[in-house]
Amino acid sequence: MQLIFDKSRPGRRAITWDNLDVTEKTGLPAECLRMVPPALPELGELDVVRHFTRLSQRNVGIDDTFYPLGSCTMKYNPKIAEVAAAQPGFAGLHPHLSSSESYWETCQGALELVYELERLLAEIAGMEASSLQPIAGAHGELTGALLMAAYHRDRGHAHKDTIIVPDSAHGTNPASAVVAGFKVVEVPSDANGQINLDKFRAAMTDNVAGIMLTCPNTHGLFEEQVQEIAKAAHAVDALLYYDGANLNAIIGQCRPGDLGFDVMHYNLHKTFATPHGMGGPGCGPVGVAKRLVPYLPGPRVVKRDAGFALVIPEKSIGRVAAFFGNFLIAVRAYAYLRYYGDEGLKDISRVAVLNANYIHARLKEAFKPAFDGRFMHECLFSAVPQAEHGVHAMDIAKALLDYGFHAPTVYFPLTVKECLMIEPTETESKETLDQFCDAMLDIAERAIHDPEALQTAPTSTPVGRLDEVRAARELNCACL
Ligand SMILES: *Cc1c(COP(=O)(O)O)cnc(C)c1O
Repeated sequence: MQLIFDKSRPGRRAITWDNLDVTEKTGLPAECLRMVPPALPELGELDVVRHFTRLSQRNVGIDDTFYPLGSCTMKYNPKIAEVAAAQPGFAGLHPHLSSSESYWETCQGALELVYELERLLAEIAGMEASSLQPIAGAHGELTGALLMAAYHRDRGHAHKDTIIVPDSAHGTNPASAVVAGFKVVEVPSDANGQINLDKFRAAMTDNVAGIMLTCPNTHGLFEEQVQEIAKAAHAVDALLYYDGANLNAIIGQCRPGDLGFDVMHYNLHKTFATPHGMGGPGCGPVGVAKRLVPYLPGPRVVKRDAGFALVIPEKSIGRVAAFFGNFLIAVRAYAYLRYYGDEGLKDISRVAVLNANYIHARLKEAFKPAFDGRFMHECLFSAVPQAEHGVHAMDIAKALLDYGFHAPTVYFPLTVKECLMIEPTETESKETLDQFCDAMLDIAERAIHDPEALQTAPTSTPVGRLDEVRAARELNCACL
């Protein structure tokens, strides 16, 4: 494909406005102004539109196919949420309107939305309060770890310097704990994919400040011993952190707060109407139990007789993001929650779990289930039997592209060899799930009879199999 710079012809333009007939005032000092125009490609409007449309068609996306990425959850994002976020009253707001009390009355609607969404998120998870500031799941984890540190510091427990993380955790968990200044102790899983309770108990010393758990964990399994874990944690005044990236598996059925969790993050991208792709943008609010409320990031929106106002909690850890984080993702999430309502939210988890178990039931003879237990919102297989024929998880992922599907997550979690982690989400039809399972079963057959063909897949896509490491390092589309 030609680079856009190669298509450039001097003087070629789209329709532009006439020159201004008033004096231009930029407010910038003259020495900061550019004297020579930047060396941008010069093209007609159609050239630009077609170039980028074609580029987008060379990609696989959630809007054109099933995208069963486990853990990262590329789900259907109702376009109504986009309409809500595009409302000029939200999209056109200047963030500094929240900076000065004299402007608050001009952004009451936005403040109300923050207030209401924080309240709804807290209620959904059985937390006392939440804050929308963090701008990613990992950022929510970091904020949660800082909240735990503030809590222990306040109680004079400086020796609490360790956080326990199971080996099935998302890699961001230990990373966030370390960035917040903690030591990390890893606890292994048992053969059933659950946390090893004996090893966990042995690691629970008085130095433990907190435990970070994902439930369902990244094996797609509900941690059945979660209440024992909570008890053991609270016995030494350690706080229990809930990684809420998988909240779609339990939403409306049970609440982390009721299970004993003290602090958590939500992934509004992934779970609540914004897709998680290419690392951003995101919104990873934190939720906290009562004893952590005083430390929440500030400023916080409060409701007063005269309207919504902003206050900084007395023991706040301070700001963790500019303004209110990625506010328009919060608008999408609010629209989504309002659209579903109480009963609809229950359906999300019911159908997400049903769909994953349907895929598991259809594929369990051809692929090796990673664990015997009952899966929640995602099902994990090990492609070790296929690998014996020379067909690895990566070959299966690439072959799926020839059937028109994006790959599931592969090689994660690291605890499962040749892992295929499939998350259908609640929004796919039975027909789509069946087409996907048919493709997987066909691939399993071909792995036995014609493994070489799978090793060179995909063959029907605009771009064949890439050296992914090189492609990421040498961003030169001419090599495609
Ligand atoms: C995605 C994910 C995270 C991190 O979220 P980001 O927004 O990518 O930082 C944490 N834990 C789990 C289980 C996840 O799936």
